[in-house]
Amino acid sequence: MPRRRRSGHGQGKEGSGYTAAPRYPGPVNEALANQTATPQTTADQAADPPVPAPSDEQWRARLGPDQYQVLRHGATEPPWSGRYVHHHEDGTYRCVGCGAVLFSSSNKFDSGSGWPSFYEPATAEAVELRTDKSHGMVRTEVVCRACGGHLGHVFDDGPAPTGQRYCINSLSLDFADD
Ligand SMILES: [Zn+2]
Repeated sequence: MPRRRRSGHGQGKEGSGYTAAPRYPGPVNEALANQTATPQTTADQAADPPVPAPSDEQWRARLGPDQYQVLRHGATEPPWSGRYVHHHEDGTYRCVGCGAVLFSSSNKFDSGSGWPSFYEPATAEAVELRTDKSHGMVRTEVVCRACGGHLGHVFDDGPAPTGQRYCINSLSLDFADD
């Protein structure tokens, strides 16, 4: 008797036609479906498409050798060597690495340092400030917030109204008329 029961049970499980979908999807199921659908749509809309950061090789290909050393390795161009030290046209200075707007000619001043100098960035969000303890000094490094490229340093000996001096490499910048 036990053997017959086991075989019979197995046949019943394998038999087709007994896993039919529910015949009566009631209002409760529909309500659940609607509840789950709404948050899913919101999440899809809120998700930013991932923007992969360029690789070191891509930066090397995108930038000139000197630009690459400054932006990606924090090098400093020799004083008075940059093309924007004595540059006085009205316009906007963008990041040469990613095109982000960084500085405005209206905030540029002659610091006498040999590097383009600004008393503030175009917007506070344009740059990111980091503590830099290289070369036996404690300085505040200025980097492009959008791409992380090294721009220069900021010091507290600038003119009014901010008293700050953003000392920026010409090699990090790309000027365009307004
Ligand atoms: Zn940038």
